[in-house]
Parts: sequence; C-alpha cells; structure tokens
Amino acid sequence: LEFLAAEDPQVTDCLRQELARQRGSVELIASENFTSRAVMEAVGSVLTNKYAEGYPGKRYYGGCEKVDMVEDLARDRACELYGAKYANVQPHSGASANFGAYLSIIEPGDTVLGMSLDHGGHLTHGSPVNFSGLLYNIVSYGVNPETETIDYDELERIAKECRPKVIVGGASAYPRFIDFERMANIAHEVGAYLMVDMAHIAGLVAAGLHPSPVPHADIVTSTSHKTLRGPRGGFILTNSDELGPKINKAIFPGAQGGPLMHVIAGKAVAFGEALRPDYRVYMEHVVENCRTLGEGMTDGGLRLVSGGTDNHLCLVDLTASDITGKDAEKLLESVGLTVNKNSIPNEQRSPFVTSGIRVGSAAATTRGFTAEDFYEIGQLIATTVFNATDDAKLADVRRRVDALLEAHPLYPGLEY
Ligand code: PLP
Repeated sequence: LEFLAAEDPQVTDCLRQELARQRGSVELIASENFTSRAVMEAVGSVLTNKYAEGYPGKRYYGGCEKVDMVEDLARDRACELYGAKYANVQPHSGASANFGAYLSIIEPGDTVLGMSLDHGGHLTHGSPVNFSGLLYNIVSYGVNPETETIDYDELERIAKECRPKVIVGGASAYPRFIDFERMANIAHEVGAYLMVDMAHIAGLVAAGLHPSPVPHADIVTSTSHKTLRGPRGGFILTNSDELGPKINKAIFPGAQGGPLMHVIAGKAVAFGEALRPDYRVYMEHVVENCRTLGEGMTDGGLRLVSGGTDNHLCLVDLTASDITGKDAEKLLESVGLTVNKNSIPNEQRSPFVTSGIRVGSAAATTRGFTAEDFYEIGQLIATTVFNATDDAKLADVRRRVDALLEAHPLYPGLEY
C-alpha cells in the first residue's frame, strides 16, 4: 500500500485492521469468499477511471475500445461458463441485477411469486421494505413444515390461484437442491416468467455440482462474489432472443449509469478462473466440506434444518441449545468463528434475534481448510453454543480455532 500509506494513514489503518480480521477468524458466512489476488489487482486498476455508458461497440463516450475488450471477455466467459446465449455483466450488485431483471419483464403493480424471506428468500424477492415489495404485488411460497424443503405442490397451487407475472426461484438460506425444471413447468403453465436468482449457488452451478437453472429459466440473475469467488457485483443471463436486448435496456439506461469497468475486469478474471479444471476441484471440496461441517454440528447435538445439506451452506436450528441466533453470532465471533444469525422455518423470534445461524464452507475452503478441519469446526460450534457461560471451554475452543487458522494462512505474502 505504498501510495495509500503515504497519502492516507487513516484509510490504510482500516485496511490493515480488516486484513488482520479476515486472517484472524474462520469465515463461515455463507455469502462470503476470498477472491484471488488476480481478481483484486483487476479491481484495483486504472479501469476505475473510465466512463463507458452503453455496451461494447455502442458507447456514449470516446476511448472505450480497451474497456470494450474487457467487457466482451467477461460476457463471452460468462456465456461459456453457464451455457447461456446472452450475458449482461454490468449490474453493480445482486440487488441491481434483480432490479434490472424485474424492470425488463414486469410493470409496477404486477404480481411476483417469490420465496418467503423467513423460509430462505432474499430481500429483493419481495420484502416490504425493499423496492420489490414496494413496487410489486408480492405473494410468497415456502417450505413444507415437515420436510423443511420447498413445497412444489403448494407453489403450484398458489401460482394457479394468484396467476403471477413472474415466479422467482433461488434463495439466500436454503441448504438443498432446487428443482428449477419443476419451477419452470409451473411458471410456464400459468403464463408466468421464471426468474432464477442463483447468487448463492453460482459457483456450484458453474462446476456442475447443482442442476443449472439456465436451460429452464427465462432469466437467471446472480452475484459474482459468493461461491463463484469473483469481485462484489452482479450479472444476468438469458437464452431468450427477445429478453436479451430488454435486459440490456433495463440495466442501462433503465437502472444504472456508467458500468464499473474495473469490477467488470474482475468478473472476467473470476469467470476465467471458474472455467479452469482446478475450480471444479475447489467446488467439490466446498460441497464435501459443508457436509462434514454439518456432521460435526449434528454429532455435537445441533439440528440442521431439513436434516442436512446438498450445497455450500447449513441452516442450524439452535432451539435445543437455549441461545438465540443473535447471541450465538456474538459468542461464536468471540472464539474466532464468524457466522450470521438467520431465521429458520416457522421462526418464533424477530429477524433481529432469530433462532438459527447460517454457516457456509466456501470461504474457509478457499483458505485450504480440509474436510477433517470442517468436521472439527462443526464440533467447535456445537461446543460453543452449548457452553455459552463456561469460560474454560470457550478458551479451549479459541485455542483450537487459532491452531486451525495458523495451519491455513490467508493471502500468504500479502503485506499491507
Ligand atoms: N440474491 C440473493 C439470493 C442473495 O443472497 C443476495 C445477497 O445476499 C443478493 C441477491 C443481493 O446481492 P447484493 O448484496 O450484491 O446486492
């Protein structure tokens, strides 16, 4: 940080503290990951200086030839990775991608059928405090109370009743495979579009470890920074000749101004990384590690919502441990395990308190944690939440966590 340190010690100090924080705890937040140094270099580059409203070959500014090459690389790689015909890589975030997707197919007041937030859906799938809930008529579907997996029969019944313009598939806290083909059949039977937000599972889909929504959905939206392991941002895919241009128009000029070309370069790098064979190996480890993490927690006495996991995350029901999600999050942080509180199906507490936590394997797998390490972390999570007031036991957990962290250094050689 030669120039930053010389010019701005305060910001430099924040960066140093954040690097130390990332190194000093096991990152188990299911939506986070550690990008490659290559992605970080692209994002921290001269491309941040360039205005490029429009799309490659059709810009509103001069001097865009080089950034056109970057955006073409990102779009072509996204299409290759997911087997899609069209890609828009300009959304600044997952929320912007979803905003653009809605804008391209529906009008304010139209009915959207999305997954209920307390069953795992995202804010942008219809929360009353989000643009989606403010602009559209939201109807929700959820999980079956017995199996805690998506109730597709009920989804079909609701869709036939409310005749939505769009059904939204995808979730932020759902540990099982999602049957996108079935959802597409339901949507198309009632004359609705199927929009799939694959933000969480984008890496699994890229590696062929979760059935792809791309052949079934009319529009697929995503973030680039979760399991996919790219920079913070969003993108949209479609195979539809009709929707491809509509999505482009919805993102620019509809929803955004100039694209973040440095971030688009980072996305291009990440898509390129995900196209390589070692990425599939990484994602296989993510799934295997999440399974052993779940086993460690179950063997420690905790209950996993739906009884297990098929993907990169586990949703944990803390009811047996007598601790709230909020308190568990704080307690786990104190022993070096970073997780987030999360509502569980049939939640009795407020979203600020909750009865669950969500834990994921993508970030610590990038750091090199093995299946055995994850099993131990699962046990350490259980030990922590069942012994919230036992200082000696918590100190033991912290020592084990520190040993695991030391065995798997984050960004070795990176000096701030
Ligand atoms: N969609 C899903 C399913 C998500 O889980 C998230 C973020 O957590 C988003 C969209 C929003 O992404 P962003 O935070 O980049 O706006």
